[in-house]
Amino acid sequence: MEASTQCVVVGGGPAGIMLGLLLARAGVEVTVLEKHADFLRDFRGDTVHASTIRLLDELGLGEGFRALPQSKLGNFRLPMEGGDSVVLADFGLLKAPYNYVAMVPQWDLLNFLVEAAQQEPTFTLRMNTEATDLLKDGSGKVVGVSYRTRDPLTGDTLGTGEFRSELMVACDGRGSVLRSRAGLVPREFPVPFDTWWFRIPRDADETDPVASISPRFAGSEVLLSLTRKDYHQIAYLAAKGSDAKLRAEGVESFRDRVARLRPDLADRVDQIGSMDDLHLLDVKLNRLSRWHEPGLLLIGDAAHAMSPAGGVGINLAVQDAVAAARVIASPLLSETLDDDHLAAVQKRRWLPTVMVQTFQRVLHRVVFAQVMAGKQPNPPKPLVFAARRLPGFPKLPARMIAFGPRPEHAPDFARRKP
Ligand SMILES: Cc1cc2nc3c(=O)[nH]c(=O)nc-3n(C[C@H](O)[C@H](O)[C@H](O)COP(=O)(O)OP(=O)(O)OC[C@H]3O[C@@H](n4cnc5c(N)ncnc54)[C@H](O)[C@@H]3O)c2cc1C
Repeated sequence: MEASTQCVVVGGGPAGIMLGLLLARAGVEVTVLEKHADFLRDFRGDTVHASTIRLLDELGLGEGFRALPQSKLGNFRLPMEGGDSVVLADFGLLKAPYNYVAMVPQWDLLNFLVEAAQQEPTFTLRMNTEATDLLKDGSGKVVGVSYRTRDPLTGDTLGTGEFRSELMVACDGRGSVLRSRAGLVPREFPVPFDTWWFRIPRDADETDPVASISPRFAGSEVLLSLTRKDYHQIAYLAAKGSDAKLRAEGVESFRDRVARLRPDLADRVDQIGSMDDLHLLDVKLNRLSRWHEPGLLLIGDAAHAMSPAGGVGINLAVQDAVAAARVIASPLLSETLDDDHLAAVQKRRWLPTVMVQTFQRVLHRVVFAQVMAGKQPNPPKPLVFAARRLPGFPKLPARMIAFGPRPEHAPDFARRKP
């Protein structure tokens, strides 16, 4: 089957869904392709920063967003020697109502944004639809994508087809198929850890709010737990490359590790049935030097994969989408889009990306690499001094984390009254 539209967005993560919503509000005919059947996956991260909350207010969606199940994060702490910690960023020092990071299950956020987008007649979302390749014309310009539709239960291919459009936007994340089909190779930065996800059921009498977060450190191990309605979503962090060793040790040994780090869950660790219940996520931090080719733009993790350090990747992906929509909506409508517009998106988002990734690289070095080597985290002394002794200091990093460098505002065409 062949179809055409003004813009095809590949990937229904934070970047793709936000871009689809904004373009549709501008009146652009936009189709978002998402390879999964739903947004119910646990490894995506749940942080919604102040700049995104402010953006949702500008879009007239703030009230609905605040009604989603969520918890609030008041500060960001760096672990220190002897189990101590220092408050690096105190969001409470920022001006209300943007003085916290909201922890919202990502599928709730994405479903909420999709509902808003579906109010627009020019928005289409195709689930179970996986982009498989780029289509090019004789000059090498990207003019479409090929896709396959999948059976949500078996994953079997049900059909194939092509979508043609003026612009393809790759929002297909860190393993971007469109990026590799375009022959673009990102520069990789070292990451000292990987993540293994698993679940443990909650007891009926547990009262932690949904999406609250609880980190535990011991030796060279970290356990990060997110509270869901019926279960704990748990990430075990250990040195990169230790998957084979961990699996060879077997499930009993892994259950012991978890029980050591979370004695309160020791009575339920046997719910980890086998090592197959552990899902490895190979953490990456990388960046393309060029985010576009004629007919193709890459944003979010497809252009710059983010590590979980500091929980900032979702926000950056959303900000990319806002910047992209502002630049490309009007030329898409007037059929005047060219490579300069795509270059302008990268130019706008380059500095914030480099700054945020540099922040993650510092966290990798001073916290994660130390912990993974079994040493105490070692934040730079001047930073610890400033955080502890200079009144008001934790407001500066709080602002940087909450709003990021060069925060984006909703374009006029996308604003709505609540
Ligand atoms: C372990 C881990 C934990 C993290 N935790 C946090 C956190 O707490 N807070 C935070 O801000 N960031 C976190 N991050 C980073 C964050 O997940 C990303 O930066 C963010 O999700 C990027 O958004 P995106 O829309 O660009 O890509 P993604 O969220 O990766 O979305 C890509 C979408 O594209 C779809 N897709 C992929 N290929 C295709 C295809 N061929 N066809 C159709 N659809 C396709 C995928 O199914 C997915 O829905 C974490 C990262 C990791 C690795």
